[in-house]
Amino acid sequence: MLIVTKPGISEESFQALLDEIRRQGYSPHISKGENRTLIGAVGAPPTPELMEHFRALPGVEQVIRITKPFKLASWEVHPEPTVLDFPTGRTGNGQFMVAAGPCGVESREQILTAARYVKRHGAQMLRGGAFKPRTSPYAFQGLGREGLELLAEARDETGLPVVTEVTSPDLVELVAEYADVLQIGARNAQNFALLKAAGGSGKPVLLKRGMSMTLDEFLMAAEYVLSEGNPRVVLVERGIRTFEKATRFTLDVSAVPVLKSQTHLPVWIDPSHAAGARAYVAPLALAGVAAGADGIIVETHPNPGEAKSDAAQQLPEQAFAELMQRLLRLLPALDKTMAVPV
Ligand code: PEP
Ligand code: MN
Repeated sequence: MLIVTKPGISEESFQALLDEIRRQGYSPHISKGENRTLIGAVGAPPTPELMEHFRALPGVEQVIRITKPFKLASWEVHPEPTVLDFPTGRTGNGQFMVAAGPCGVESREQILTAARYVKRHGAQMLRGGAFKPRTSPYAFQGLGREGLELLAEARDETGLPVVTEVTSPDLVELVAEYADVLQIGARNAQNFALLKAAGGSGKPVLLKRGMSMTLDEFLMAAEYVLSEGNPRVVLVERGIRTFEKATRFTLDVSAVPVLKSQTHLPVWIDPSHAAGARAYVAPLALAGVAAGADGIIVETHPNPGEAKSDAAQQLPEQAFAELMQRLLRLLPALDKTMAVPV
């Protein structure tokens, strides 16, 4: 339920209200507005008697049932758009970011080369998988800890924050030691133990949509992270499974406006995994941005033909640079801004 406080509620009544929310088995999530404070009291569906009980407490103006199955992700509980801040840029509420880099970290030279040129062409974040969730157990699984160390080295040199995937709950602690942002991949988007562990890590979470997930299920997955007390979540549409085979997945462009109508969280597009082929990456990225995305995560590799994973979809440097130029022309038409790292 959502509890709206009266303007000028005393500190004493406010604290008593929080105590009572907890005593009744709910967890309070506070959202301060100019005049009023909203408290999302998250827990089991409240009885009419309980709502009446809260209405009668000092300083309470209104008690409203939250109708959506997801609470903390909803606009009802959080009426301001969430903006995530990084040293290189911001995402949300008209501020746009690009995370770019190879599918997987393969060597020191590969990741440092990619990090240098993605920064030079204007990206605000470096991506690269150290733990790769592969369809085949015989395929390249990533460099693991060594990959994390190389990402940290690339961050130290370029100043770009790094996002990398965490594939199981017991790896959260290790990955969080090195990464600035934890990525949860499409194949793990409903791994609830992982979502909770990432929620407890204190790091921002970049959550991919599962390839067969409805948007409601996607928002409920985000709710797992948020309900651990971690408000920094980015939702990423990365293509869903359809009957169409011309692309690897089908980018659900409509997910962007639908999600944005439902949630205050930033919404990004991953055109690379949706396309599965270099030629389609830029058009899908631009379509996602035109639909209202707050950022993109895109794969680029210094030598894509030799990539150990997702070779067909990674952009060479030149194509990545061109995409950045086109984004820089498109964003102002959409009243969006992108920080250019110095
Ligand atoms: C990735 O970003 O490297 C990745 C594996 O993506 P997804 O989980 O969307 O398939
Ligand atoms: Mn990939």
